[in-house]
Amino acid sequence: MTLTGNLLIGATEYSPTRGTLLALDPSTDTTIEPAFALGGIEEVDRAARLADEAFDSYNATTLAVRAAFLERIADGLDAAAPELAQRASLETGLPAAQLEGEAARAATQFRQFAQVVRQGRFRQATIDPAQPERQPRARMDHRMQKIALGPIAVFGASNFPISYSVAGGDTASALAAGCPVVVKAHNAHPGASEIQARVIREAVAASGLHEGVFSMIRGEGTQVGEALVDHPLISGVAFTGSEGGGMALYRRAQSRPDPIPVFAEMTSVNPTFVLPDALAARGHVIGDGFAERMLVNVGQACLKPAILLAVDGPGFDALKAAMIARVDAMHARTMLTPGIFQAYRQNVERVRATGAAQIAEGASGEGRWDGRPALFEVSGAHMLEEPSLSEEVFGPSALLVRVADVEQLVALARQFRGQLSATLHADAADHPLAARLLPILERRTGRVVINAFAHPQEVSYASIHGGPFPATTDSRFTSVGMSAIERFLRPVCYQGFPDALLPEALRHDNPLGIWRLTDGEPARTQA
Ligand code: NAP
Repeated sequence: MTLTGNLLIGATEYSPTRGTLLALDPSTDTTIEPAFALGGIEEVDRAARLADEAFDSYNATTLAVRAAFLERIADGLDAAAPELAQRASLETGLPAAQLEGEAARAATQFRQFAQVVRQGRFRQATIDPAQPERQPRARMDHRMQKIALGPIAVFGASNFPISYSVAGGDTASALAAGCPVVVKAHNAHPGASEIQARVIREAVAASGLHEGVFSMIRGEGTQVGEALVDHPLISGVAFTGSEGGGMALYRRAQSRPDPIPVFAEMTSVNPTFVLPDALAARGHVIGDGFAERMLVNVGQACLKPAILLAVDGPGFDALKAAMIARVDAMHARTMLTPGIFQAYRQNVERVRATGAAQIAEGASGEGRWDGRPALFEVSGAHMLEEPSLSEEVFGPSALLVRVADVEQLVALARQFRGQLSATLHADAADHPLAARLLPILERRTGRVVINAFAHPQEVSYASIHGGPFPATTDSRFTSVGMSAIERFLRPVCYQGFPDALLPEALRHDNPLGIWRLTDGEPARTQA
C-alpha cells in the first residue's frame, strides 16, 4: 500500500493545510518518510459535515449490509496485517510479531461486531402491547428500540497502535451501532494509522455506503482534537489515552452549548492482592507471573499490574525474590515516544522521592529512548501515608507493598481510586478474606480477576474494560467487548404506531427474527 500522508476525508484525499510531520522510529531515534499532512478546523468541519450527511442512510442500513461492511474491514485488515505490523513496529519500537497479533485481534473484533449486528439484540427491541381493556385507563401500544447516537469522534492511544487506534474497538463498536466515525489520528503512528484508514474507506466504497461514514484527520490534539469535540455535528467522543488528555476533552464536551457524552479510558494501576495461603503455597510463581505481565509492552499497557500487595509472612520472600530476578534479568527497551520516555523517568523519580526502596533494576539499553525496568518496595504504612504511590507510572515499573496484617490490607484496598481491573490470588483458606475484599474491589473496578492476571484482555460478550473514575469517565460502560456498542446507542420509544410505520425491529411479525422483550419476557415471536 502506498502511503501518501494525505488526510483521508470521506472518499477524498487532502494535502496539508497546517504543515506536515514525520514519524519517528524511537528505536533508532531517526525520522521516517513520508511526510504526513496536518489539518486544521476546516478539515474537521469537512469531516464532521460529511459524517452528518452519512448518518441517516448509514443508521438505516439493514443488519445484513452493515454486518457485511464490518466483515469487509476485517478482511482488509487481514490482508494488510504484515505491512501494517511492519509499519507500526517501526513507529512504536514494539515487535512486529506482536503487532501482527494485534492486527489479527482487530480483524476478529470487526467480525465479532458483525455477528452482534446480525443478531440484532443490540436494538434491545422492547414491546408493551396495547391493553385497551385495562382499568382504570387503557394502555397504548409502546415499542422501544435503540438507534445510533450520531457521528462519533475517536481518539486512539499510542501504546496499542492498532487495537486502540484507527481500526480499534472504539471505531468497530461505533460503526456497528450505526454511527459514522471521524478519527483523530495519533501523531505517534501516522503510517500505521493511514494503512488502517485506507482499509476502512475501501470497505466503505465496496459496500456502497455514503463516503462520510468514515474519515481520518490529523493535527495537534489541542487544535483539531478540540475542534472535533466542539463541532456541533459530533454527537459523542471515544478516547483512550492519558488522564490529562481525556479530562481536557471531557470538560470541553461538557462546556458545549449542547453537551455530549465522552467515553474516555485513562488510567489504572490494576492492584494485585496476594492473600496469605496463596502466598505461602506459591509466592514464587505469583511473583514471577506478576513481573512478567508488568513488563509486557515495556510496561506501556493499561492493564499492566503495577502494584502488588501481600501480607508479610510465609512466601513473601520467595515472591519478592522472583519479582527481583525477573526485573533484574530484563534489559531496557524502546519506549513509544520521547515524551513517554521522559514522563516515565520523571515518574520513577517521583516514586523514589517518596522514600520507596528500589529493589531491582533492569540493565540499561543502548537506545536513546530505552526505558529501564524498575521495582520498588514500600511498607503498607508508608503506602497509606503516600496516596501518590497509587498513581500510574506508565512504563516498566512496579511497586511491591509489604503489608503488616489483614486489617492494613483491607485499609489499603479502600485507598484505591477507580481501576480497570483488580486481581486476587487466593486459595480455599483465603476465601473469607477474599469475600471481605470483594465488595471493596467491586466498588472500585470494572473487573475482578482471581488466580490469573488481567492481561491479556478477552474480547467477548461478558468482558469489561471500564471502571469508576479515573479509569474512565463513565463507569456504566466498557470500551472492549461486545457491550462496548452500548456507548453509541440511545433509546427511542414509538407510542401507538401503526405497523407500517414502525421500524423493522419492532413490527408485529418480527421480520428480522430477533430476540425482543414483550411485556418483559424474552421471545422471538410476533408481538
Ligand atoms: P495522550 O497523550 O492522552 O494522547 C491520546 C490522543 O488524544 C492523541 O491523539 C492526542 O493528540 C489527543 N490529546 C491528548 N491531549 C489532548 C488535549 N488536551 N486536547 C485534545 N486532544 C488531546 O495518550 P497516549 O500518549 O496515547 O497514551 C499514553 C497514556 O494513555 C498513558 O497514560 C496510559 O495510561 C493511557 N492509556 C490508557 C488506556 C486505558 O485503556 N485506560 C489504554 C492505553 C493508554 P496529540 O498527541 O496531538 O496531543
